[in-house]
Amino acid sequence: MKTKIVLLGPPGSGKGTQGEKLCEQYGFVKLSTGDMLREAVRKGTALGVKADGYMKSGALVPNDLIIALMKEKITSLDEGTGIIFDGFPRTVEQANALGEQVHIDLALNLDVNDQELIDRLTKRRTCPKCNAVYHLEYNPPKRAGFCDKCRSVLELRSDDREETVRNRLKVYRESTLPLIKYYEKKGNLVTIEGVGSIDEIFAKVKKAVL
Ligand code: AMP
Repeated sequence: MKTKIVLLGPPGSGKGTQGEKLCEQYGFVKLSTGDMLREAVRKGTALGVKADGYMKSGALVPNDLIIALMKEKITSLDEGTGIIFDGFPRTVEQANALGEQVHIDLALNLDVNDQELIDRLTKRRTCPKCNAVYHLEYNPPKRAGFCDKCRSVLELRSDDREETVRNRLKVYRESTLPLIKYYEKKGNLVTIEGVGSIDEIFAKVKKAVL
């Protein structure tokens, strides 16, 4: 089984959802830079204050801040820990920094078309407390507006509004798409069509991971 896995794919491609399922079934630890940054913003830490403006506009937070954050997180885990990297790396500079610290044995690319991404993100609802993710039609919470897991009130992320979503997709194409070639050259890229039910996609994800 692969133990250090990068999830690649545009915002809304299902990295968080599929990563969460891998954690539940196989005990991986998921490191999501987006979740860490949102927590920092909520708590008003120095990192949160610096990151807030970039996140609101859908731009990337500067590499040096992200690389330092992830270095610290990875160092705090035991070497044998199975790790899913969700939303990191997002630039070649971040991928190089990660590669210096950890040997990545799988880069799993979730391929989804733009129209589907916009639909998923604008109808996505997230739990600000436990980071669980829902979709109003395809994966609704049992009680409308509330998280199934921790009962908190669900939110539309401020960067999931259509205008910001379009900018995030543009940023993805410019800065993150080159990572597909990057990991292809390293020989550890697997691309999966990320369209279908969550369980159908997860069946393909499992095949790549096991
Ligand atoms: P996500 O939850 O992964 O969609 O990330 C939400 C936002 O956090 C992004 O639009 C960026 O502003 C920021 N962010 C998350 N991960 C990174 C990263 N690896 N590099 C730069 N910015 C990031």
